[in-house]
Formats: sequence, C-alpha cells, structure tokens
Amino acid sequence: MAAGKDLNNSLDLGVIVIEDDRRISVWNDWIAHKAQIPAAKALGRTLAELFPALEGAPLLAAVERVFSAGLPTIMSHHFHPRVLPLVEVRGRVVEPVEQSVVVRPLLTGEGRQAACLIQVSDLTSAVKRDRHLRKITAYSRTLFDMSADALVTVDGEGRMLETNPSFETLTGRSGAGLQGQPFCEVFLSVEEARSFVRQAFADRLRHDVTLTLRHADGGLRHVLLNAAVIPGAHSDDPCLYISARDISHRIEAQRQLARKSDELERSNAELSAFAYVASHDLRQPLRMISSYLGLIERRLGTALPDDLREFLSFAVDGARRMDRLILDLLEYSRVGHDDGRREAVDVAEVVNDSLLNLKLAIEESQAELVVGALPVIESDRLELLRLFQNLIGNALKYRSLDRLPRIEVGYRGDGGEHCFFVRDNGIGIAAEQSDRAFGIFQRLVPAEQYEGTVIGLAICKKIVEHRGGRIWVDSRPGFGSTFFFTVPEDAAAS
Ligand code: ADP
Repeated sequence: MAAGKDLNNSLDLGVIVIEDDRRISVWNDWIAHKAQIPAAKALGRTLAELFPALEGAPLLAAVERVFSAGLPTIMSHHFHPRVLPLVEVRGRVVEPVEQSVVVRPLLTGEGRQAACLIQVSDLTSAVKRDRHLRKITAYSRTLFDMSADALVTVDGEGRMLETNPSFETLTGRSGAGLQGQPFCEVFLSVEEARSFVRQAFADRLRHDVTLTLRHADGGLRHVLLNAAVIPGAHSDDPCLYISARDISHRIEAQRQLARKSDELERSNAELSAFAYVASHDLRQPLRMISSYLGLIERRLGTALPDDLREFLSFAVDGARRMDRLILDLLEYSRVGHDDGRREAVDVAEVVNDSLLNLKLAIEESQAELVVGALPVIESDRLELLRLFQNLIGNALKYRSLDRLPRIEVGYRGDGGEHCFFVRDNGIGIAAEQSDRAFGIFQRLVPAEQYEGTVIGLAICKKIVEHRGGRIWVDSRPGFGSTFFFTVPEDAAAS
C-alpha cells in the first residue's frame, strides 16, 4: 500500500480513485498540487463536495457510467475543456491546466470492479503549441489570401495546389476549378509556361518573366511571374510558389507611349523640315521686296512727300525685321541637325569671341564684364558661341535704366556636368514667367521697349537640351537674373 502511494505520488499525472460509495480513496500529490486541495482534505469526500460546480457536469456522469455499466470514458480537451478546475502556479502567474481525462473502472485481483479510476494528464504545453501553430498557419493563410498579387503553388507535376483570391480573379476561375489542374494550360503559350516551370524547378528561383495568360472570359492578360521552390505543405516533395502580377495596363501604356513617341519624332522631323524650307524659301521673295523698296527709295527719295517717305521707311524696317525673324527661325530649325558634333573647346575663347561680336552693344551700354575661369570641354564650338552670345546679348539688352550693366560669366563643375552661368543686374524676370521665357515667341516685355524676335532663349534651350543638359534662370525682378546651363561631361547627342 505504501509502495502504491509512493508510486502514485511520483507519477506525472493526476490520479484519483473513487470508491463505490463515491468517496475519494486516492488523491495523489500531482492532483493535490494542481487542484490546490491537500490529500488530507480530499480523502473521504466526494468530488461534488470538493467541486460544487461539477454538479451535472460530464465528469460525474462518466463516474456514474463506470459504476453502473463498467464503461470507460475518454474526455479529450477538444470536446471537454478543463474538466477539473486545476491550475499551475508559477510565481505570481496562475494558469489554468488544459487536461485530457480518462475515467475507467479499477478492477480488483478477482476481476471484480471495485472502484473508479480518474487519470488526468496535463496538456497545457501541447495545447499552447497547437494554438500557436494554428495562429501561424492562419496568419500565413491570411497573408496568402490578402495579397494583391495573384499567388499559386504548383507541384512537381505542374498541377496547381493552392490559389489565392487574386489568382482566381486574374484567371476568372474558382479555386475549386483550378485545384489539381495543369498550371501551364492557363497560359496562351503552354510551351513557354512549361519552360518557365521547368527552369524555376531547376534554378530554384525565377524572376520577372512576362507571359500571357488566358482569362476565362477569353481575354488575354500580360502577367509578370516570379517563382521560388519551397517545401510542399503536405508531402516532402518540393513545389513552386509563384506570384503573378497583372501588368496588362503597364504594357498597354508602354505601347501607347512608344507609338506616341514615334509619332512625335515623325511630326518633329516634319515640322523642322517644314520650318527650314519655309524660312529658307520665304527669304527669296522678301529679298525682292527689300531690294525694290530700296530702288523706289533711291529713285524717288527726294521727290517724295514726307508722309510717303515715312510710309516707305516703315515698309523697309518691316522687311528688315522680317528677315531677322526668318534667319532666327532658320537657326532654330537647324539646331540638332549636326548629329552632336564634338571637339575640345576652350570656353574662355568662345566667350571672348562672343564679346567681340557684341563689342558695339557693350561699348554703347558701358557695361562692365567679369569673366571667371572657364574650362576646356568636349562640345560644339559654334553652338557654345550662339549660347553665350544670346545670353550675354540679352543681359545687355534687358539692362536696367537706373544703373550701368554689370555682367558676370562663370563656371562651376558639378558632379558629372559642367555648369555655366551668365549673371546680370538688369530688369529681371518674375518667377512665374521664368519658364515662359524659354518658349518660342514668348515675349515678357513690350515690343516697343525692347526689340527682338523672341526666339533667342528658345534656341538656347534647344541647343542645351539637344546635348542632354538643362537651362534655367534664377531672377529677382528689378535686381537682375542669372541664367544657368549645363553640359553633361560625357555629352553626346541625345
Ligand atoms: P529676344 O530674342 O527677343 O531677346 P529671348 O527669347 O532671348 O527674346 O527672350 C525671351 C524673353 O525673356 C524676352 O522677351 C525677355 O522678356 C526675357 N529675357 C531674356 N533675357 C533676359 C534678361 N537677361 N533679363 C531679363 N529678361 C530677359
């Protein structure tokens, strides 16, 4: 008996024996500890006395079944959670004990039923593990289901195992209709899809492959596929985890863009050919008008009354301005037709030449010119000359009437590009006008005050952008402007 008691107390499970008068005769240490009732209090009492809450509970019914019919009962934690109010106390933490309970007859030596044995096992850690596992599984499933990318797993035979709602939307088929079906047959080119699957299994990874998928409605979808080999969920065989992103819109947009850019290129070429031909051919009749006006002026000059002479000089002036305009248009249409010629150009020399060309205007305006150190760069000499001449010419033209013009030409090397600037102390440009200034025929000041064809800055912009650079202006109206332009260091024609 003493040995039996020791044995009971050394077991890692709860042991309760109920005699046929329903009183408790064995209450081992395990159960005493977890029920928090010592053996001295439990022995000789009934379960219902110890735990009034058990009244009508399945455990008491199970005990009765043992006595009345000798029938055992297994109470698994799934169907009978926490049969007895047991707890585990760790420091301040009191945790309920998840249990699995077996209630069965206890036979005497002669095979006669003498008592009822209740065995209680602690399943807390197993239940916790199980719950944790379920949580992780549910979480992974949610990630799979909520993904905006279409996801599918495919086995070694190329059959679809699991699909998410996005994949079902992408294909227009239900999950049940896809499961077990050949993955490759969803695609327009089954052969291409097979080669994708084959290579993905062989390389264990496959990135960014574009295939065309057939939707159940007969329409086609362009999809970007990525795949990785992962262990199978239900067997040891590896399977493919494939994500498919619908890029039909992107591909359509790219096609439209390519079409538009072709059209644009064609119409640009046509336009510049037209501008060239028109301006070239327009000069011919204009020259005739100018020379005959000159003849009339010479022949009748003195004989003409004052008002007619004034009309004639307006006509001559108009023809002269029109010629200037046509020449500028010609120049504008020619920029970019030289296939980006490049040579080593000493920019200091170029600036010097442009100052020589502007000598008259500089002297007239008494401008002060400050030219900083300038580098030798790979570019087109003539184009640079046009740029500096236009910018310095503008700095002279748009000077303030309140002060003598001061113009500074400078350079700063800026990671990967040459940046030049022309700074003046002239009338300036309002910030909201600064983009317009580079447009063709975008005059910002009244024509009567400043003569010009309003193409100069448009030509500068075309030259700079043709070489892959940028041009912009920083200005404070009333104080002056700084025009910057860049030339990429490895400048080539764009
Ligand atoms: P234009 O050839 O008639 O001088 P641009 O195309 O060179 O014309 O310049 C466009 C407009 O930008 C000009 O009408 C003028 O209003 C403004 N602009 C250009 N350069 C300057 C400057 N340095 N200071 C102030 N305004 C300027």
